[in-house]
Amino acid sequence: MDSKLITIAVILFGMLGQAAFGLTSADKLKVVTTVPDLAWFASEIGGEQVDVTSLSKGRENLHSLKVRPTTLVSISKADLLIEMGLSLEVTWLPELVMASRNRKVHVGQPGRVTCGDGWEAIDVPTDLSREGGDLHPGGNPHFSLSPLAGTHMADHVLRGLVAVAPDHEQKFRERHKKLTERLKKAEKRWKRYAALFEQSKAKEMAVSYHAEFDYLLDFLGVGIELYIEPKPGVPPTAGHLAKVISHMRENSVPMVLTTNWSNSKSVSMAATRAGAKVSELPTMVHGTPWASDWILLIDGLLERLRIDYGLPELEPEGAENSVLIR
Ligand SMILES: [Zn+2]
Repeated sequence: MDSKLITIAVILFGMLGQAAFGLTSADKLKVVTTVPDLAWFASEIGGEQVDVTSLSKGRENLHSLKVRPTTLVSISKADLLIEMGLSLEVTWLPELVMASRNRKVHVGQPGRVTCGDGWEAIDVPTDLSREGGDLHPGGNPHFSLSPLAGTHMADHVLRGLVAVAPDHEQKFRERHKKLTERLKKAEKRWKRYAALFEQSKAKEMAVSYHAEFDYLLDFLGVGIELYIEPKPGVPPTAGHLAKVISHMRENSVPMVLTTNWSNSKSVSMAATRAGAKVSELPTMVHGTPWASDWILLIDGLLERLRIDYGLPELEPEGAENSVLIR
């Protein structure tokens, strides 16, 4: 991250800190999350005991978040800081935490939760050299888009809340239980999409710009063929793009998945030259108007992919076996 931005943020932090402090109720637990998805989990489990702020708003590239003065103010006042981890926020979060002077949210303190702990990452690199990009050194950190990650994130959030506010443990556990029940019900629905994709005779292969949809596609059994970025975080060269286009043509890859911050010029060039469709998808809660919570985000992503791949509609819920017997 630009050190000038940090300096400006530190100066403004001094000016704004006092003003911002008066905005939240003093008796509420101040929870800061790096992504809106985790903010949703924290609000669902924390209820009226928490005041939750997300540092990103839903449409950013999380590998290089632009710092706002309010970002530092939020971290400085936090009782609990919840991040995704697996190096997703490594280019900006550690520096901000140091600048915030809030020891409560340092790594290793009860006020810091890293959801990547205990998550079995996919795409773990075998070549550990930093040459040519090193954004995913511990494997793919975009597991918030795994339909199977809901309970994992909910459990981490619960542990963090209980650690910093044990007096409210019972309330947190009750809400966590209700949320887990909703997640399990949703997972059942999402598995019907996986069955639908499994059953389809279509070639559901994709190329994507970055690797943020890998968990989602893995869940559906859709093979990711290549990335428009030669390595995570490295912009495409003409040579790499030509290789991707030729591979897409040879294998009739029908889809390029992208998001709002990707290089749209290279995405549309690859799609046009290979005769493929472009599907622009949100990567976070609030990334698009319909993704107002995490369950709706996953529901919407699966439905969008179903439509983009031209697969039939799911039968209404209750006809659980209809996908399998169709
Ligand atoms: Zn990434």
